[in-house]
Amino acid sequence: MAACIFCRIVAGEIPSSKLYEDQDVLAFMDINPINPGHSLVIPKKHFESLLDASPAEVAKVAAKLPELARAVKAATGADGVNVFQANGAVAGQTVPHLHFHIIPRHKAEGFTFGWRQQKYAPGEMQKMHERILGALQG
Ligand code: AMP
Ligand code: ZN
Repeated sequence: MAACIFCRIVAGEIPSSKLYEDQDVLAFMDINPINPGHSLVIPKKHFESLLDASPAEVAKVAAKLPELARAVKAATGADGVNVFQANGAVAGQTVPHLHFHIIPRHKAEGFTFGWRQQKYAPGEMQKMHERILGALQG
């Protein structure tokens, strides 16, 4: 028996409200929605997060996002949709199996992600730009 709750959903050991399923991808309703219709899309294969996932598996999941997001928006009458994805506990990931949230959003809902955007000190962005470019080459 897999320990991972989403692997257990994939294996059918835990029930889920499935929206889509193929050989590689599963979409189902989130049981604790930000708004009704909030859904999750996962690779069936276990990857802890996007950071250790195979690009091919991510591509299969990502390919389903437009259709699923359109369906969630249409079914909920939402004004917009967030696709959200967390990697690591510090980033808000609570289930360590790669997943994409599809969250229907409404004009009058009172929910906010509470983003806190900052300003770079002079020269700081350029330094960070170089570091990330270096990491990409690394
Ligand atoms: P995150 O916090 O980004 O890791 O998202 C994990 C999501 O999985 C949360 O929104 C939970 O509500 C959802 N979740 C946890 N267990 C289940 C389950 N058994 N069925 C459906 N959704 C679940
Ligand atoms: Zn898993």
